[in-house]
Amino acid sequence: MSRVSEPEFEQALNELTSTLAPFLEKNPSYEKALKIVQIPERIITFRVVWEDDKGEAQVNRGYRVQFNSALGPYKGGLRLHPSVNLSILKFLGFEQIFKNALTGLSIGGGKGGCDFDPKGKTDNEIRKFCYAFMQELSRHIGPLTDVPAGDIGVGGREVGFLFGAYKKYTNSFSGILTGKGLSFGGSHIRPEATGYGLVYYVSWMIKHVEGAEAGWKGKKVLISGSGNVAQYAAEKVIALGGVVLSLSDSKGTLLSTSPEGFTNADIAAIGPMKVAHKSLTDYHQSTSELKSKFTYHAGARPWALVEKADVALPSATQNEISEDEAKALVKAGVKYVAEGSNMGSTQEAIDVFEATRTSAKAVGDVVWYAPGKASNAGGVAVSGLEMSQNSARIQWTREEVDEKLQTIMEKCYNNCFETGSKYTKETGSALPSLVAGANIAGFVLVADAMKAQGDWW
Ligand code: GLU
Repeated sequence: MSRVSEPEFEQALNELTSTLAPFLEKNPSYEKALKIVQIPERIITFRVVWEDDKGEAQVNRGYRVQFNSALGPYKGGLRLHPSVNLSILKFLGFEQIFKNALTGLSIGGGKGGCDFDPKGKTDNEIRKFCYAFMQELSRHIGPLTDVPAGDIGVGGREVGFLFGAYKKYTNSFSGILTGKGLSFGGSHIRPEATGYGLVYYVSWMIKHVEGAEAGWKGKKVLISGSGNVAQYAAEKVIALGGVVLSLSDSKGTLLSTSPEGFTNADIAAIGPMKVAHKSLTDYHQSTSELKSKFTYHAGARPWALVEKADVALPSATQNEISEDEAKALVKAGVKYVAEGSNMGSTQEAIDVFEATRTSAKAVGDVVWYAPGKASNAGGVAVSGLEMSQNSARIQWTREEVDEKLQTIMEKCYNNCFETGSKYTKETGSALPSLVAGANIAGFVLVADAMKAQGDWW
């Protein structure tokens, strides 16, 4: 039988499978669950015809992968990017299953999107596209069935249009999307949640390695990306006393040359520019002060550009750290790598980081790696909280949501750490594997619920 090649999905599956080995050795009956969980419950693909500003018909491919509903309604974002295909959405949906399990909330896993390119489109075209996309998607989602949200290319503006379209087509106002505007069922802290949650997760890693009093003060932080995740991660790092050295986009990296790094004013200015799909060079070139405060590195990612850094937070897209870049991070003295993006590191890069862990004599020698499905779970966690608020028709305060987010990230970290310790604390290794811990903990939660519901026996 010939098989369709799905490189990104196969990579995500292989990452999970390889780290499950020590668990499956002790629990061989779960091999069956692994075989079953890797096939989506349902995939919907559809045609999206929309009208551009010239009145012409444009066509794109739309998808929703409803991967697993053992723990709750399918939950996961929508990605709008020309690279979108089934392999990418299956990898994202697969990751989402275990990530969502790690939040401890009642949410299954799914992902969707379209090969539509939002770059260069007018607001009117974005709105027309969102309405056309939802015309078909609305048949397949619902507050108890499947609740999409944002991902690359889908922010507050797009969620608003998609929500309005769903309401018109179905004549119902309900929590069918998360990331909504605050005035129509959105949750406080949802835009910030992925970036903040990432920083909260790493705070626990730092405390574990350097002691309970340790934190971000003075830490040099490389961040890639400049979208929603990167911006709020940067904002939180700055608030906690860290120094943000870099942000990047598909065209290149902006590197700070000043000791204070990126400031809140920089982040506040970059946010709206990114919504308008402008590039970081436009920001860099906008004043002479900025020209001297940053250097711009066309075509480069941040990882090999500095001689010294402490933390790396890949927050752009999948496979954004190669093996060589991972080695450059080790050489620069980075001690913590945590993904704000999904599958930010290639398997070869993960192998480089994990090798520092198994060979280290002391905790200080480890470049400790946290996979996105654990460290970026804060976004979908607050989506889960948005669903709860919608069901109860209430809105929690900013402080209430932030506190719940912090608790979820702490529990997620502890779960990864403890499960990792149980299965991977090889003799002599200084720290447990957080990637194995995340994968095993997430997998067991999902597999057990599937078994209880008769999905495998
Ligand atoms: N796209 C985000 C993720 O990768 C959020 C999904 C959601 O909120 O449903 O987790």
